[in-house]
Amino acid sequence: MTVDAPVGLFIDGVRLDSVTPAAIPVIDPSFATEAYRLPDSSNEEIDRAVQSARRVFEKGSWAKAPPSERRRVLHKLGDLLSAEASELDRLDARDMGKPVGLRRSNAASAAAVLHFYAEAIDKTGGEVFASDAESLVLRQGVPVGVVGAITPWNFPTMNAVRKLAPALAAGNCVVLKPSELASRSAMRIALLALEAGLPPGVLNLVPGSGAKAGEALALHQDVDMLTFTGSTAVGKRLMQYAGRSNLKPVMLECGGKSPHVVFDDSGDIEAMATAIADGILTNQGQVCSAGTRLIVARSIEAELCGRIAARMRDVVIGDAGDPRTSFGPLSSARQFERVRTLVSEASQQGAKLVTGGQPLSSRHGGYFFEPTLFRQVSADADIARQEIFGPVLSVMAFDGEDEAVHLARSTIYGLMAYVWSTDLSRSLRVAKAIRSSVFVNARAPAGEGAGHAAAFEPMRQSGFGAEGGLAGLQSYQRRQTIWINH
Ligand code: NAD
Repeated sequence: MTVDAPVGLFIDGVRLDSVTPAAIPVIDPSFATEAYRLPDSSNEEIDRAVQSARRVFEKGSWAKAPPSERRRVLHKLGDLLSAEASELDRLDARDMGKPVGLRRSNAASAAAVLHFYAEAIDKTGGEVFASDAESLVLRQGVPVGVVGAITPWNFPTMNAVRKLAPALAAGNCVVLKPSELASRSAMRIALLALEAGLPPGVLNLVPGSGAKAGEALALHQDVDMLTFTGSTAVGKRLMQYAGRSNLKPVMLECGGKSPHVVFDDSGDIEAMATAIADGILTNQGQVCSAGTRLIVARSIEAELCGRIAARMRDVVIGDAGDPRTSFGPLSSARQFERVRTLVSEASQQGAKLVTGGQPLSSRHGGYFFEPTLFRQVSADADIARQEIFGPVLSVMAFDGEDEAVHLARSTIYGLMAYVWSTDLSRSLRVAKAIRSSVFVNARAPAGEGAGHAAAFEPMRQSGFGAEGGLAGLQSYQRRQTIWINH
């Protein structure tokens, strides 16, 4: 099959056409033209996929396979992904507009995640508890069973692999429903997994909409766990579905409104401007952990804004499939309208536009929108509170540390925060006051750092459950205690 072949179901290791007509139009956002149509998996098809996963899970051909065998298959899948990385990036660019030249969270880095979890399989263990002379009490991690995975569109290949790699490494079977906006790379990954030696039925794919296929998967009585990345609104629904069905545990990686807190002793203002601009420009601001609120000491606010605005005007706008493009389109007409509406309302709510603010669709054809910077944004304004998921940076000036912390905490989200100061005591004080993961004088993926070993767990309405690192594998296990009297 060619990479561009239409997306279908993938059940029991076989690619199938859905009984439902391919009715969901998938629009290439660089040109606003229809690329293909996607089927919306029916309840019966979801059920078939879940049953396939259940059968294979109970048979144990993956869950009970020796760790060395699971390790070999996941490494092989990582190799196959690496070999097809540029094709997968191309599919994602066509489906949702992530520029092929963007290295962050691209298919090559998704392959690295697979290699990390292949190695993690035989490097996690349980624990032995203190007990009396006649007992041995131990705890081991066991696979959860059938995992339903529901993913968004912003980094389609990586979104899928961030779920699949740890879930499979832990010995589970998975039914994956990728975003209806971008399913082609997931289809390809399912086929590559089979080629890598993953037993048929361990990974099944059900394409379709959230309202139909997603809901049916989330409500299924025989799905043992849901893992979700997406908006907070849909995350809340998944918890309701779990309560209405079989009390399946839910792991949620949801939205964010991450602050940069910049003090006047931050050192290299040029490097900082580059990092902050890069954060909001990457993937057109459609990054869950993007720093979208700039909370900055009043004395350096004007200068920092000027430098960031200059970088915003310096982007190379164009077709996401062109390697020269640094700034592509927004993913969809819906996303485009959302950004346009919030930006046009911002001025009415008192914010001062510094650069951008305009759609570029008439010049470029697709769903393009200018990188946009607002100063003097009130903490109550919609652009300061709502996740825009677009290239819009909202700037608020502060006069003291307490005010900075108060502004940083003025959000329902708790995904990520960035603190910039050369005073380490102050940085740590502020970091500890913020309820999210925090980068100090750093921005992922600048520098080697902890690489894949670092785990991140969202807080507040950004969700819960660790993703990444060994803790990320344990998220897909249950703790089983075995008590032996001997
Ligand atoms: P979304 O919530 O609209 O959709 C995510 C997935 O949920 C899609 O597959 C969709 O089809 C499905 N879905 C929608 N309604 C559903 C329902 N009723 N039942 C079951 N499934 C349903 O999010 P999106 O627009 O695809 O992605 C953008 C969002 O994802 C942003 O909020 C962003 O912050 C978040 N995100 C978070 C992270 C993270 O790690 N925290 C990473 C990437 C994206």
